[in-house]
Amino acid sequence: MRVRKRKGAEEHLANHPQYVILNPETAKGRWHEIFDNDNPIHIEVGSGKGAFITGMAVKNPDINYIGIDIQLSVLSYALDKVLDSAVKNVKLLRVDGSALTNYFADGEIDLIYLNFSDPWPKKKHEKRRLTYKTFLDTYKQILPEGGEIHFKTDNQGLFEYSLASVSQYGMILKQVWLDLHASDYEGNVMTEYEQKFSSKGQAIYRMEAQF
Ligand code: SAH
Repeated sequence: MRVRKRKGAEEHLANHPQYVILNPETAKGRWHEIFDNDNPIHIEVGSGKGAFITGMAVKNPDINYIGIDIQLSVLSYALDKVLDSAVKNVKLLRVDGSALTNYFADGEIDLIYLNFSDPWPKKKHEKRRLTYKTFLDTYKQILPEGGEIHFKTDNQGLFEYSLASVSQYGMILKQVWLDLHASDYEGNVMTEYEQKFSSKGQAIYRMEAQF
């Protein structure tokens, strides 16, 4: 997701510490305390402008959500959505998905969503793909035994790669959709990219993979 640098993004994030966790290292192992409940915690890595995480939080008030993005400006737009919807069960983190073990204790996260992750189509950039094996190592550590990754994309190349990557890792492919919107899958919450690509007639791929 390419967005222009937003003026005041940093201040905007800093002004809402109830939603934006500014010293995430100190949150490791304390997330239930931060949410002030024992509900499950689901994260989206690469949450973009936040339509998915906010939509999910509105729909599922008994689940805690954390939207994670590496881009400051993008995260500040996600904060706008969180503020507009006045949800209590969302936090936002500006960190790199490759370093999640710095911010989450072993097994602290119940489910990981990846939506429309950057495809990095060149072979030399394989290591940056969010379904590359080192990312899977990280996800495995912060999820419980048998934890799951739910992944959506419009990008056929990234989807093919990810199917192979998770299966080579030894994960179980629980379910695969080659055209999510034409399927009987219920309760889908669309992301910004999903709205954009599906309105152009592109099929949306989805998988649920389990460690
Ligand atoms: N999920 C959103 C955005 C997809 S674009 C949607 O579907 O609309 C991919 C997003 O992932 C971008 O906002 C980008 O900044 C973020 N991203 C890419 N690599 C990342 C990483 N290593 N850690 C955290 N976020 C990352």
